[in-house]
Amino acid sequence: MADQTRPFDVLIIGGGNAGLCAAITARRAGARVLVLESAIKDFRGGNSRHTRDIRYMHRGATDYVTGPYGEDEFWEDLRQVTGGETNERLARLVIRESETLGDWMAANGVRWQKPLRGTLHLTRTNLFMLGGGKAMVNAYYDTASKLGIEIAYEAEVCELKMRDGEAQGVMALCHGASQEIDAKSIVVASGGFEANIPWLKEYWGEAADNFIIRGTKHNQGRLLKELLKHGAKPVGDPRGCHAVALDARAPKFDGGIVTRLDSVPFGIVVNKEVRRFYDEGEDFWPKRYAIWGKLIAQQPEQIAYSVIDAKALPLFLPSVFPPVQAASIPELASALGLDSSALATAVNNFNRAVQPGAFDPGSLDNCRTEGLDPPKSHWARPIDTPPYYGYPLRPGITFTYLGVTVNEQARVIMQDERPAKNVFAAGEVMAGNILGKGYLAGFGLTIGSVFGRIAGREAARHAGF
Ligand SMILES: Cc1cc2nc3c(=O)[nH]c(=O)nc-3n(C[C@H](O)[C@H](O)[C@H](O)COP(=O)(O)OP(=O)(O)OC[C@H]3O[C@@H](n4cnc5c(N)ncnc54)[C@H](O)[C@@H]3O)c2cc1C
Repeated sequence: MADQTRPFDVLIIGGGNAGLCAAITARRAGARVLVLESAIKDFRGGNSRHTRDIRYMHRGATDYVTGPYGEDEFWEDLRQVTGGETNERLARLVIRESETLGDWMAANGVRWQKPLRGTLHLTRTNLFMLGGGKAMVNAYYDTASKLGIEIAYEAEVCELKMRDGEAQGVMALCHGASQEIDAKSIVVASGGFEANIPWLKEYWGEAADNFIIRGTKHNQGRLLKELLKHGAKPVGDPRGCHAVALDARAPKFDGGIVTRLDSVPFGIVVNKEVRRFYDEGEDFWPKRYAIWGKLIAQQPEQIAYSVIDAKALPLFLPSVFPPVQAASIPELASALGLDSSALATAVNNFNRAVQPGAFDPGSLDNCRTEGLDPPKSHWARPIDTPPYYGYPLRPGITFTYLGVTVNEQARVIMQDERPAKNVFAAGEVMAGNILGKGYLAGFGLTIGSVFGRIAGREAARHAGF
């Protein structure tokens, strides 16, 4: 239970990256800060503990990035992935403020690792955390407790008490007991609503039952719903989500990064009816991987199968689950539960359509099909070298885009366009202001860190610091 003998200045709801950045900033400003976190201590840190890297603006190479990444290039990258569905003022604020993140994070305990080689193509633009998001989150919690920030685990906020744009406090279930907690300022940093399957069903129908959630089961969107109920102005497409092709054997929640499957460009993908449904070689995988979750969500029973041969196996980061293996395509089909002759026909048709070319996984090569619908535009090679491998695929939801509108002070904006008096938002719950659609790798943490710091600063200021 939180010690309520003295009122808190700043109450932070959610102990992921955004909440912790807010808490540390507010505390350093002098405020008395309480963090309420739904999860037990071992599972603290929400989706942030699954992360690996953060995108940030910088002027040159360092020990940890290989070259410069300036404001204009950063902005152009964002403009392209969002198709312009972004608030330029807030986006540029995030980009500019990200310049100090590397030092700020290091000063609060985060350690960096040397640039990685390989398929990620992020070594110039993104910093990689040594030990990944889990180490980052642990470092922040350590800093928070050294600074005297109070943290309550197994403390789920259920209700926001709010009138005329001003929050009076919250009702929380702390270790199963209901408790009212008051504070002068409130920062909502409780993530998206991706773990709330009934809510997803409102937009996706029954298909949502077959979605796998890559992150925490605690991101139920309760506070997002509360804010919208109290008149906060929504932002972002309710159906919008970041969704990748995931190994169908992954756990329902919290599988993290090791269940993602990057085999798609190196073979074919068929649905349950053994029909190909999209160009597997449309573009480089880092640019395309986030459309495959939605593509699979549109297939019968929301399942698909990636089929490759022995040539392809070394070319991608494997899933934590071993592939289904067989000596022939019909045997692979029956091991995957697919119609054997249909898969043999699909593979034969594909193999016949493959044109001669120079295979190069590092470029948009000229290995393509002709006369096949849908075509495969790059990296098309006959699937003819045993053993053959297959992975079952499901839509893997990373996070949702619906959120609340905020201003440059991270203050929640109400439907009458007035800013809330003492309610601030940071992280995934407001990322839709900046990421209307699409995604830039490593940018979720950037938005949460920058807006977390702003929310912490402004919440403390409102409380008199
Ligand atoms: C597998 C995976 C890999 C990713 N990799 C990257 C990456 O490398 N780089 C990157 O930038 N982004 C990455 N992302 C996205 C990134 O995780 C998010 O953008 C970011 O972590 C969001 O931070 P947040 O603080 O808003 O939410 P979270 O970190 O999810 O924190 C929200 C917290 O709120 C708590 N909470 C929820 N509801 C309540 C409530 N009612 N009461 C109290 N507490 C509550 C939750 O328990 C949780 O701890 C990845 C996501 C996933 C799932």
